[in-house]
Amino acid sequence: MAGGRNNSLKVLSMHIVLLGSPGVGKGTQARLISQRYNVPQISTGDLLREALCNSTPLGLKAKKYMGRGELVPDELMIALIEERLNGQGTKDGFILDGFPRTIAQARGLDRILRQMKSPLDLVLEIEATPSIIIRRLEGRRLCQNCGKDYHLVYHPPRENGVCDECGSRLYQRKDDRARTIKNRLRVYRDQTLPLREYYSERGILGTVSGNELPLEVFGNICAILEKIEVAGYRV
Ligand code: AMP
Repeated sequence: MAGGRNNSLKVLSMHIVLLGSPGVGKGTQARLISQRYNVPQISTGDLLREALCNSTPLGLKAKKYMGRGELVPDELMIALIEERLNGQGTKDGFILDGFPRTIAQARGLDRILRQMKSPLDLVLEIEATPSIIIRRLEGRRLCQNCGKDYHLVYHPPRENGVCDECGSRLYQRKDDRARTIKNRLRVYRDQTLPLREYYSERGILGTVSGNELPLEVFGNICAILEKIEVAGYRV
């Protein structure tokens, strides 16, 4: 377990994909891994929301798909991730959160990583019970200023609708409403779940339960990461 290890521990190489349905806790876990192991978290959802907010050409193209809970076309996503991975700070590793989401994206990622000479160390699937996922998504609220996330029941802010950290208003993501959630979960099952077999055949798929509280899930993830180190996949 990660127990007695230094918080700024830095492994030599950590190229990780987090796989899992919306609401399973990928974003939270990616943030915790990123802080502990000092590697960047790359969330395609966040990159798209930023593009949308700034009305960039990508944001304008992505808007209609995101609003319906559908996937943004593969070629746009592969180009986005290629640009980000070839950018600053990814040489020693990264955690991909929300990419790939289709077999075509996984093949695109293989090509990019071959060029970077940085093979994936681990694809970690987080699994949770559907009723837990739906409850999490429907109750999720985010700060419109700093992005901190809350939950109406499990992690409410001190003052209703206001961020504890910066005092800004909280909002609900449009795609966290009941009808869009159903579509996102269907899209996940049909288009993303086949990745489980794609990576399992290569022997780099790990699975962890996402039903528990975030820090408990994180402890289990750290145990898996340390085993990989011990097994000598990297170095
Ligand atoms: P997320 O924050 O990961 O739940 O992503 C929010 C939305 O962004 C998704 O419902 C999709 O519309 C879009 N999106 C994020 N990542 C991808 C991806 N890898 N491929 C296609 N669409 C994506």
